[in-house]
Amino acid sequence: MKKIISLILIISFLCVAGCSDDSERARQAKFYAYGTEIDVSLFGVDDPTAQKTIDTLETAFNAVDDRWHAWKPSTLTDINNAIAAGDEIAVSDDVAAVIQQASDLAESSQNLFNPAAGKLFELWGYHQDDWFVSRPPPSQNSINDWLAASPTMADIVIENGVLSSNNPQVKIGFGGFAKGFAVDRAIKALQEMGITNAIVNIGGDLRAIGSHGERPWLIGIRHPRKQGLLASITLQDDESVFTSGDYERFFTYEGKRYPHIIDPRTGYPADQATSATVLHTNAAEADAAATALFVAGKDWPQVAASMGLQHVMLVRPDGVIELSPAMQKRVRILDKQFPPVIREIPIQ
Ligand code: ADP
Ligand code: MG
Repeated sequence: MKKIISLILIISFLCVAGCSDDSERARQAKFYAYGTEIDVSLFGVDDPTAQKTIDTLETAFNAVDDRWHAWKPSTLTDINNAIAAGDEIAVSDDVAAVIQQASDLAESSQNLFNPAAGKLFELWGYHQDDWFVSRPPPSQNSINDWLAASPTMADIVIENGVLSSNNPQVKIGFGGFAKGFAVDRAIKALQEMGITNAIVNIGGDLRAIGSHGERPWLIGIRHPRKQGLLASITLQDDESVFTSGDYERFFTYEGKRYPHIIDPRTGYPADQATSATVLHTNAAEADAAATALFVAGKDWPQVAASMGLQHVMLVRPDGVIELSPAMQKRVRILDKQFPPVIREIPIQ
């Protein structure tokens, strides 16, 4: 199933009149990695370099997928099998660093971003290729069993390159931040090629570096309930914008929708927001934060504070847009149905 692009680049990539040099125009390329369309926009590079970036990016995305795929054989499934069996497993420094990053984000989000909840995502059928097929929701008993075990990233210990957990209910699933993490890797690969002006956009979430020549990069954020855009944002050098919503990945059973972001406190899909957007310097953090704030719903300012966020936009179930003061300064709201509500992020 093709994912709908929630965040659309609204800048024009065509060379305008007077554009003489090839490197003076933006180039756009698309490719697919893990079932999602990836759009790359580059400014100020020649054709051969642009072409080379596609291979580099494909390699970067596929490397993340091979390592972190949650249900096809990967480094991650080896780790999860070891945890389930109560065994220790050796992990490389690179793998340990990603798990540590996920643990830190889980902790600062008060475990609303809980990548140790893989068994819960599995119960809801989101760790399989046909996640969109209609099916009954899991039984209350199975959810209660999961809640009783309450696995979190804090149950994982890594010491001297060896990972273990004393909670066999821990199952890691990085769906809530893998895209951000992959985008960070992709931008790093581009920077290593000497590219300084680019956007890597994965299914609507993105990180932008540099600018579009004289102009900054300008992006649009899809409306969670209407056709078209909710807002637009002019990006500064090196910013990431990630949105979590209830409108893309869900299944329907007996007329009711079950979206894929689960509230680890209840074991059920979170329903206190229709979308949560975070602007941040780092894509992995922005991704994890968007998931956490979507779960937090009306309590988002306090979670934003503990995650150290400044720029947040959340659409409430009643359609009202809530903004942090810093986000209000950056965003242009295009949906004028209700006046936005400004909510301070408390100082920690
Ligand atoms: P999207 O990929 O649509 O941007 P998210 O980044 O919010 O959405 O990731 C949702 C995915 O993350 C789910 O498919 C599931 O694998 C996993 N997930 C669901 N709920 C949570 C949660 N509370 N914390 C961490 N990961 C989650
Ligand atoms: Mg996310």
